[in-house]
Amino acid sequence: MAFTRRAFGAGLMAAPLLGPASLAAPPKGQTAYGDFGLDLAAMDPAVAPGDDFYRHANGAWIRSAMIPQDRAIWGANAQINDTTQARSRAIMESAGALGTANGRKIADYYGAWIDAARLERLGTGPLKPELARLAAIAAPADLARELALLSWAALPNPNGASPLPQSPVTSGVGIDIMRPDRYIAGLTQGGIGLPDRDYYFVDRPANLKVRQAYQAHLARLFALAGFDDAEGRAARVYALEERIARGHRTRVANREAEKRYNAFTRADFAAQAPGLDWDAYLKAAGLEAQPILIVNQPEAIAAAAAAANEVPLDDWRDYLSVRAIRNFAPVGPRAFREEDFAYTRALTGTPEMPALWKTAVIQTDRALGHAVGEIYLQRHFPASSRAQIAEMTRNLKRAMAVRIERLDWMTAPTKGRALAKLQRLRIEIGGQQPLRDYSGLQVTAGDGFGNLLRAQSFERARMLGKLGRLVDRSEWSMNPQSVNAVSNAALVKVMFPAGYLQPPNFDPNADPAVNYGAIGRVIGHEISHQFDDQGAKFDETGALNNWWSAEDLAKFRTVGAGLVAQYSQYEPLPGLHINGLLTVGENIGDLAGLALAYDAYRASLRGKPAPVLAGLTGDQRFFLSFAQVLRSVQREDALRQQILTDPHAPNEWRAAQVRNLDAWYAAFDVKPEQKAYLPPDRRIQVW
Ligand SMILES: [Zn+2]
Repeated sequence: MAFTRRAFGAGLMAAPLLGPASLAAPPKGQTAYGDFGLDLAAMDPAVAPGDDFYRHANGAWIRSAMIPQDRAIWGANAQINDTTQARSRAIMESAGALGTANGRKIADYYGAWIDAARLERLGTGPLKPELARLAAIAAPADLARELALLSWAALPNPNGASPLPQSPVTSGVGIDIMRPDRYIAGLTQGGIGLPDRDYYFVDRPANLKVRQAYQAHLARLFALAGFDDAEGRAARVYALEERIARGHRTRVANREAEKRYNAFTRADFAAQAPGLDWDAYLKAAGLEAQPILIVNQPEAIAAAAAAANEVPLDDWRDYLSVRAIRNFAPVGPRAFREEDFAYTRALTGTPEMPALWKTAVIQTDRALGHAVGEIYLQRHFPASSRAQIAEMTRNLKRAMAVRIERLDWMTAPTKGRALAKLQRLRIEIGGQQPLRDYSGLQVTAGDGFGNLLRAQSFERARMLGKLGRLVDRSEWSMNPQSVNAVSNAALVKVMFPAGYLQPPNFDPNADPAVNYGAIGRVIGHEISHQFDDQGAKFDETGALNNWWSAEDLAKFRTVGAGLVAQYSQYEPLPGLHINGLLTVGENIGDLAGLALAYDAYRASLRGKPAPVLAGLTGDQRFFLSFAQVLRSVQREDALRQQILTDPHAPNEWRAAQVRNLDAWYAAFDVKPEQKAYLPPDRRIQVW
């Protein structure tokens, strides 16, 4: 549900273009961009707004922007990432001097990742016990145990989309969406190394290239770790993954919340998914006492269980071993780190491996993010900014209420339920309070891989520790310094981390039109997720429970279908269209968010006319700000991967939402003969 997702490593550019490069905020009262927050130099006045609004707002910037060598994408969001990464580095490098337990842990965790000489000296020593344990797999029960442990072999990414579930049978703990005051255990599909099942089966040239690169990557990992027959092993692991992927539900099918909720008793499910030693699996997963399991994709889990029985144990040992090597590679000797990056390069086209400290920042952020965030909040998030954002969120919420009340197609009872849900919606700013406790996590100086394994076990224990407790409604999946925002349907809550609340997203000194077009629209987007095609299935308590009348739901679905059709027409790369079905939830969020932010901006004027600044009206500044925070340049391979796997449309097409808003036509006097013009009956309105 997150607003933006950047799965690619963040990087600090030596000389950022057109932006705040320093760690400090601009002097008091001064905007980061221009006189009132807009980057006027970024615009291209030669492009008419009605022909191509994105290039009108950003054309000069796009022409001069260069993607840093260690990045897949560059733009406003990447630039904020750089600032935050540099601030986090400063925190991590000085944390040891704080004299606190958390400070020591941060310093030791980070320190072990950046000590290149020591990583070289240790060689594959730290990996050996893992490989020895896997080499000893001799019986189906051993395999089942290792498949359960593999569920936890990657830390969640608090900055955006988390890595794909690691195990073909990944276990976990989540909120029970039928009874959202309690937690429940579940199983979900995973265990493939390519970004999506379709990469294995859809024979487009780019996929063939990535498949070859991935198989070569697996072979080189085996060779680096000292295995013989590296190519043969890689080919067999690939074949096993392909078999697992064949059982996977597609991304589009997997969006449907109610179809992921399949409750089974343990005995029923073991009978339905034979082949895996379920007793051994559930014991190792820490779930042996759970009476009910929620199985997200029963057909995929059954296929994986059958593979556990039918594929030779030799192949499974290799499959698990290469995953252990991949887990180790980022904190191994240089040859391993380079190989780890080689696969990222093949996927995204990024030429250069990021500096070691950048990886160390990302990894420390994953393991000890709230401890880093505590310091981040003290240093970089003043109370005045929190108050300013809080006021905007109230205005956005009010704008949503007004929109619901005046909808002509929705019946009164459904409106009542929608308003009740909006009333209950919690909006939290900055970071989780209280922050997460790390006292149970042992961090040892100089033991990078050991620390990583302990952090993964700590996360496993934290998640399992939820079972049997009431849901902690204060929890955040993100860190305070995360450069993102998120909406959680089961918690009926939207969250805006401090890391996201920086120029150009939010500038405390900017003109209100600029802030409403930027962060206001993000706030509206996250609120709207509670009412998008999936979020709207959850009621005001966070339960998956249809509160819509049949006729209202049918009308609401028509709106979604319109957006699916509109976005499916867009073709960012020749022959590759946006997947309207995959992106519909985010597109609803974008469209509704922009409309809400516009209403909230107008309401904030309290009937007074907006000033004209640099010849731009308030409405013009609002829409230009919206398009400017979306500016980005992206490598073609990374763009292709985004179109194939990401629920967010690429930024340029997110900016195209202006075509659906009457106010945009009025603000820029857009005429029917212009390229971006849509006749009124083809403009889509969600709320
Ligand atoms: Zn979103």
